[in-house]
Amino acid sequence: MASLRQLSALGLRKAIAAGEVSALEAAREYLGAIDELDGQLHCFNQVHRDRALERAGAIDRKRAAGEPLGPLGGLPLAIKDNICTAYGKTTCSSKILADFHSPYDATAVSRLEAAGAVVLGKTNLDEFAMGSSTENSGFAPTRNPWDVSRVPGGSSGGSAAAAAARLCAAALGSDTGGSIRQPASFCGVVGLKPTYGRVSRYGLVAYGSSLDQIGPIARNVGDAALLLSVIAGHDGSDSTSLDRPVPDYLAELDKPLKNLRVGLVSEFHSQSLWPEIRQAVDRCAEAFGAAGAAVTEVSLPHSRIDAGPDGILSSYAVACYYVVAMAEASSNLARYDGVHYGHRTAKPVKDIIELYCRSRAEGFGQEVKRRIMLGTYALSAGYYEAYYLKALKVRRLIKNDFDAAFAKCDVLLGPTTPETAFPLGAKTADPLTMYLSDVYTISANLAGLPGISVPAGLSRENLPIGVQLLSGAFNEPVLLRAARLLEVALGPAPAPPLAGSN
Ligand code: GLN
Repeated sequence: MASLRQLSALGLRKAIAAGEVSALEAAREYLGAIDELDGQLHCFNQVHRDRALERAGAIDRKRAAGEPLGPLGGLPLAIKDNICTAYGKTTCSSKILADFHSPYDATAVSRLEAAGAVVLGKTNLDEFAMGSSTENSGFAPTRNPWDVSRVPGGSSGGSAAAAAARLCAAALGSDTGGSIRQPASFCGVVGLKPTYGRVSRYGLVAYGSSLDQIGPIARNVGDAALLLSVIAGHDGSDSTSLDRPVPDYLAELDKPLKNLRVGLVSEFHSQSLWPEIRQAVDRCAEAFGAAGAAVTEVSLPHSRIDAGPDGILSSYAVACYYVVAMAEASSNLARYDGVHYGHRTAKPVKDIIELYCRSRAEGFGQEVKRRIMLGTYALSAGYYEAYYLKALKVRRLIKNDFDAAFAKCDVLLGPTTPETAFPLGAKTADPLTMYLSDVYTISANLAGLPGISVPAGLSRENLPIGVQLLSGAFNEPVLLRAARLLEVALGPAPAPPLAGSN
């Protein structure tokens, strides 16, 4: 039999259910690979070795007793470290939460475990999910398994790099402006951001509450569908999770895709896009056409991207997102005050205000501080109308564009990112160029829509290219089927050379 780590999540689940491999063997093999490779990659903030082995043993005992193993029976998974687990720490890759132990599991985590998953550990991210490269981690940056001198993207860089390097069968990430899809694209794996409200945010440490959504990062579309089926659904603990039936996304994948209407977003297909990525999008459009889909150009005027004379891109969506996300972040992060949660300064202080100030100054990294200050400014009296209210109006215009587009199309096709994975340090000195990494992903969050990044080949530099598909709200079944169509047309995504040591 092929090495365990070469099996997809679905393949491994089948092998475990059939008794060809034990859950314990699977957990051991993945933990061994983490020992071998994670020193170089730094995907994991913590590895829950003993607990993973214990849980895997319990799955094997269930099998021996003839009990059902659950839809994820024995699958070794990784969880982004801003998703709470009652076991171990939840740090958000921030010094302020370096020793934080959550008293409860996020609903997504308890659903995975109830379905038989074995959690291997918690993955690295940009501090509080703020960033596009995982370089804003308060601990150490994660590296891209395709080229360790490059970033894996972010903020779910640890989860994406771990999935790509076969250090887990699949992972959970979170996406506020692109943090599942952009790193998935940089690492050559599938990343799915569900519709806002499809997956409970209970236990996801809040960044931008009106934008955040948990979703799967996996090696193929089927594995992503499998995970989504488990984590989706209403949760009484999250009032923004919608009470709608959850389809079996995996079974939905096999339904025929008839009369598919694909919209090529003209604003995303501009000259500013890297030629190799543009060609990948064109290849996908051709693949849809060859499969009988109707491919037309559609316009999202308020998601337009302009290139200035200096080549710097600008977009309403990015501007709007950074006002909304930073405003929400400034409010959400007010709770880290050195009293309720996390780091408290050890220095003598004269009053409670100084305690707050010192604890926050010591605990938060530079990017988080920048965002708290900008967000507070945007919400302050006198500026609220000019920035926050204006951004909400732009957000509505962006949403209206999507509504018009989805009256004509089932899915929209475009790039996930303007470029492939960049070298570490390339954008750290200029936050604005870093923010532009999400120029194609951000509008879906503003509109609350689902999006998926699918691997679409390698660049001349041997780096993964991702293409993005978007659909209307709660249309994940069609979104996933369209993604599967591309996957079949383009062939299976390759693994990074580094993952193939076994
Ligand atoms: N890169 C974007 C940001 O820095 C998106 C992050 C995310 O989706 N969590 O806010």
